[in-house]
Amino acid sequence: MEKDALHLPELFGSNVFNEETMKERLSAASYKAWKKSTTDGTPLELSTANEIAQAMKQWAMEKGATHFTHWFQPMTDVTAEKHDSFISPVGGGKIDMEFSGKELIKGEPDASSFPSGGLRATFEARGYTAWDPTSFAFVKDNSLYIPTVFMSYSGQALDKKTPLLRSMETVSKQSIRILRLFGDTETKKVTAQCGPEQEYFLVDKKLYEHREDLRLTGRTLFGNKPPRGQELEDHYFGQIKPRVAAFMEDLDNELWKLGVPSKTKHNEVAPSQHEMAPVFSDANTACDANQLAMDMMKKVADRHGFVCLLHEKPYDGVNGSGKHDNWSLGTDTGKNLLKPGNTPSQNAQFLLFLAAFVKGVDEYQETLRCTVASAGNDHRLGAQEAPPAIISIFLGDELDGIVRSIIDGTPYKDGTRKKLRIGIDVLPSISQDTTDRNRTSPMAFTGNKFEFRMLGSSQSISGPNIALNTIMAQELGEFADELEKSSDFDNDLEMLIKKTFKEHERIIFNGNGYDESWVKEANKRGLANLISTADAMPHYADAKAVKLYTENGVYTEEELNARANIHAETYDARISIEARTMLDIARREIMPAVSAYAGDLAVRMANLKAAGCVTAYETDTSKEVAVLTDTMMKDTEKLGEDMEKVPCDPWDAMKYYHDIILPDMGSIRKSADSLEGLVDKKYWPFPVYSELLFSE
Ligand code: ADP
Ligand code: MG
Repeated sequence: MEKDALHLPELFGSNVFNEETMKERLSAASYKAWKKSTTDGTPLELSTANEIAQAMKQWAMEKGATHFTHWFQPMTDVTAEKHDSFISPVGGGKIDMEFSGKELIKGEPDASSFPSGGLRATFEARGYTAWDPTSFAFVKDNSLYIPTVFMSYSGQALDKKTPLLRSMETVSKQSIRILRLFGDTETKKVTAQCGPEQEYFLVDKKLYEHREDLRLTGRTLFGNKPPRGQELEDHYFGQIKPRVAAFMEDLDNELWKLGVPSKTKHNEVAPSQHEMAPVFSDANTACDANQLAMDMMKKVADRHGFVCLLHEKPYDGVNGSGKHDNWSLGTDTGKNLLKPGNTPSQNAQFLLFLAAFVKGVDEYQETLRCTVASAGNDHRLGAQEAPPAIISIFLGDELDGIVRSIIDGTPYKDGTRKKLRIGIDVLPSISQDTTDRNRTSPMAFTGNKFEFRMLGSSQSISGPNIALNTIMAQELGEFADELEKSSDFDNDLEMLIKKTFKEHERIIFNGNGYDESWVKEANKRGLANLISTADAMPHYADAKAVKLYTENGVYTEEELNARANIHAETYDARISIEARTMLDIARREIMPAVSAYAGDLAVRMANLKAAGCVTAYETDTSKEVAVLTDTMMKDTEKLGEDMEKVPCDPWDAMKYYHDIILPDMGSIRKSADSLEGLVDKKYWPFPVYSELLFSE
């Protein structure tokens, strides 16, 4: 172990064709050309690409790679890859190992089976992938992985990376306009940075295999809360059990080799629930790294006899899993634009960025809500455990006090009781204290970043980051338009900040987001409360969103509509699979098991009666079992019939699944779970919650 720790710096990124390796293995000219292409997007000459490809191939083969793949992020939450070997026959039954610059830069996977939301007509089914030189290639499973974007031949983005890169560019551009107004002439690039905390469950593989619901849908469709849940509050940050610790160690090693800076690991609130957090990086790399982390979690779990569940709600009645997207803006000169500074001018700049964020989140609540809406996440948001479905911003006491004093023009209530003059006074210090963090807030300021806490554990972090970047770009752009014209900058700046906080004060909420009274209060404030995906999704490509994304060059209207359609179709597909799995389990597993038990119970009852014994238990249980089975059967029939009537249009279907099918499923589950509580456990056809959750 000690030896491993000493070698960690060498291990880290050892399977990544990173900057250091490129410097080592490329000619100075090619290295420079690559570097330039990452900073200003200059396309590489074919000769340079050829040289890079050569070097990459050589390096990858030394790492055992026989294949290469363009690795991309279609409009699903998972990544796609298609592997080609380096072999190229040279006659005489011999081969060479080849990999050209062209193959590095561009690939043409048969793209017709990826969701396109109608973007790609079938006659031009082929899309192409193109190397993203800002994200490093790496070796995994004997293949060289090349991170790429995925486009249609007409140039429409068919993936999650392209719009993310576009949004990063636009937020950089608008941030720089603001920085110039504050006299910053040095910053050339502003980077959206993010650190996603990833939650997950582990379950024993042998038990998992007996649960058709887990296997087919990622969550349990049946099951009573175990007698012991999270009430002892002993799991969160609790001691990690040896088998889990071994998994985590293995995971860390795999991630480190791939250059994913896994930093923190701990037990989460629910039994069998854990978290991994990396060190933050630019949003593009963070997004790639999170996809890799999710893949790796599943793979490494398998080696340890576990299955890693990334579903947002594997178990009813037990905390679900989310992802906290920590987000900030950093300059290429090393400054964090969401960090309060030490001088009056830095603080004025900070307050302007803060004002832009507050305004943006208020104006585009629905858009942000849509980026975290999914069938899985519906079990968390608005269900009294994760942040509510209502978007609001938590600023913390100190910053809230400052904002309030700006709005009211009253003295800031710190020791000095001074009135804060923007651009003249230094802000009172704002601590990064972890203790007063409001865990119920969907969007919390945590000292030098915002933490967007509504993300589902299985989703790509790309969508939420695209939205945050674009919204911020929009607001900063509006501010820049106004301030660039100003003849009295300090005064106009102060007025603008004050006006913005005043107009968007309603989005700031520091109280308990789980409290019922917040729903009423939010309603009074006119905040959106889009409880489910079916409620939220119609806003995905509404007029406001179209304007936002098209004007900032992030999505075209067609691209946005395509994504909205895919979300609707994915929601429908998920609920449909769940409903059909439920029918299957109810009909082929639960009801037959219950019937067998009832039959045996009847025989036992008759025997006992014949022997002149009391049969209260047998009689009462039989009756209860019979009533519940009867109800369950009727509910199962109803679900079966309702499933025959699902509308064809995906948007109508979404409403139908939400309004009709989900309640049907709820009814079946109710009887089944009651039966689970009555039936002799020898008869129950699959492992129950107490086994699944305490199996580690
Ligand atoms: P928590 O108490 O919520 O675990 P941490 O401070 O440990 O918070 O950070 C959680 C995540 O936020 C980590 O991934 C960390 O790297 C990331 N993070 C820290 N600073 C920033 C920043 N300026 N921008 C984006 N992410 C950040
Ligand atoms: Mg957090």
